[in-house]
Amino acid sequence: MSDDCLFCRIARGDVPVLFVAENALAVAFRDIHPQAPVHVLVIPRAHVESMLEATDPAPMNAVMQLAIEVARAEGVAGSGFRLVLNTGADGGQSVSHLHAHVLGGRAMHWPPG
Ligand code: 5GP
Ligand code: ZN
Repeated sequence: MSDDCLFCRIARGDVPVLFVAENALAVAFRDIHPQAPVHVLVIPRAHVESMLEATDPAPMNAVMQLAIEVARAEGVAGSGFRLVLNTGADGGQSVSHLHAHVLGGRAMHWPPG
């Protein structure tokens, strides 16, 4: 847990954000700059910088389970969706608290930009 980490503050409830889903170890909320009709971020409640630091599998499992739940609840499980974990500078990670993007509601392109 870090005082100056935005996503820690969101997970703690210090920043007013509506959770679209949550479980014991992870929370999900809409991205402030959506890149698709469905764009939800799923983060562990505990501070983990990126998947490289996710030595304890429990928060990672919780993020994956919640991402699947979100995809179903948002109605994109049937049509398909993309789960993205940007990691490090070249991966495009801009917030240093592990987060999975659940993107759906439109066809995704490959290769990604
Ligand atoms: P990254 O680029 O690190 O993979 O993703 C970070 C994401 O967090 C971006 O898509 C960005 O729009 C989102 N984001 C940054 N600040 C906030 C915020 O204060 N609230 C919400 N809901 N999303 C944020
Ligand atoms: Zn954090």
